Amino acid sequence: MEEVRRRQGGIIYLVPEIALTPQLLTRLKERFGNENIAVLHSGVSRAIRYEQWQRLRRGEMHMAVGVRSALFAPVRDLKLIIVDEEHDASYKQDDRLPYSARDLAIVKGRLHGATVVLGSATPAVQTSFNARNGKFSCLSIPGRIADRPLPRVEIVDMKMEKALQGKNAFTIFSRRLTAAIRETLDRKQQVMLLLNRRGYHTFQICRDCGHPLKCRNCEVSLIQHAQEGVWKCHYCDYTLAGGLVCSRCNSANIGVYGMGTELLEEEITNRFPAARIRRMDSDTMDRKGAHEQLLNALGQDRIDILVGTQMISKGHDFPNVTLVGVILADTSLSLPDFRAAERTFQLLTQVSGRGGRGDFPGKVIIQTFNPNHYAIRKAKDHDYDGFYEEEISLRESLFYPPFSRLIHLRLSSIHQAKGEDGINRLAERARELLELARVRGKVEIVGPAEAPLFRLRGRYRWQLLLKGDDSRFLHALTRDILSGFHAPGVQIKVDVDPVHFM
Ligand SMILES: [Zn+2]
Ligand SMILES: [Zn+2]
Repeated sequence: MEEVRRRQGGIIYLVPEIALTPQLLTRLKERFGNENIAVLHSGVSRAIRYEQWQRLRRGEMHMAVGVRSALFAPVRDLKLIIVDEEHDASYKQDDRLPYSARDLAIVKGRLHGATVVLGSATPAVQTSFNARNGKFSCLSIPGRIADRPLPRVEIVDMKMEKALQGKNAFTIFSRRLTAAIRETLDRKQQVMLLLNRRGYHTFQICRDCGHPLKCRNCEVSLIQHAQEGVWKCHYCDYTLAGGLVCSRCNSANIGVYGMGTELLEEEITNRFPAARIRRMDSDTMDRKGAHEQLLNALGQDRIDILVGTQMISKGHDFPNVTLVGVILADTSLSLPDFRAAERTFQLLTQVSGRGGRGDFPGKVIIQTFNPNHYAIRKAKDHDYDGFYEEEISLRESLFYPPFSRLIHLRLSSIHQAKGEDGINRLAERARELLELARVRGKVEIVGPAEAPLFRLRGRYRWQLLLKGDDSRFLHALTRDILSGFHAPGVQIKVDVDPVHFM
């Protein structure tokens, strides 16, 4: 960055989340004190964003910092684009115009003759693949700052734990984790606990007829938010106050199960009443400045235990955090997504890296029902290369990226029958056209299938996946499939290189 600035070049610096910009800005100001830095994200008012945009365009500012959309900033003489935490899925925008800011950074860099730096401690498999094949050059930082040792990671097998605790006395806190929290608090050090689910109870079943209760508009469970006294859908705006009633048999005898961060916070408070406990998730962090306040409190040792979602795994440096506990590593493993193992490995490695950044060695305890899964074993051993080798050979045998490109066709309708008819005809048309085409490379059509969240915001959803190793052919095929295809009452969205599959 210094070199680029010395030559009067422009810089774009992307981070995955708005919450990470204050910390980054502080560091950039320490280093480049006399620079005016544009900050571009939706937390900045439109008027200020507009003014910064104009100043960048006129060449009065040369550095832009922000989330994915900051990639489009009109920085003059652009010479460097940095994509920090490049593996992060939030670089992909799904709604409106789908794009990946990480992939577009490469394209923009090429157009401007700028260098692109993709930074990560857990690079995306795709990125590593490009580095290993010489498409990207790889610069590695093999050691931790000041040669600090990596934290020691222990895995607790929750199947065994369940057997030992007894089925009826089973709690989600293993004896190992409970003891480690106590020891850490006794040493006046800090604890972080990760659970990747918000809310209090996370699903409900009718005790009379066994029917699982769902959102009125979506095929998902409602999530209880106890402090607000409501049940909420995390996908649409549906909120239910008052008692639950079974939609099938009208019974009010409803069992509530599952633990979210709100319940975790309550249970940990019951166990450690003297500890100062705070929670970090999008429910507690929606107020402006809340995130910074909480991180300041953690940095000043005014918090003993921080409970939170994956938000706590990102980019924070707290030397007195010496224990990191992962309550359930399995939540992301079971997602219907070919990147589920990659995401799990990244999350575990990132959150593990939060511990032991100061003078005290860190410890990480991962609770899981799948202790032998390679994503968990390799995260335990801090073995990125080992994970990559297992993952890449699976990807190759299943013809998934980086060995193929994907185009995801998503069809939705408020009418189930119209949607079903639409997706069946779309899939039929795709297969017919593929048969007639002069196929380049290998091509597979997967589906049609119901989307994992079959009903969302009142719409029924289906998907068709095109896989191929020649992206130009895949694009041409998609254009042919869609041109002249009419289905009344349905909406079709095309997502090239999809990242989210729900
Ligand atoms: Zn019922
Ligand atoms: Zn809903």
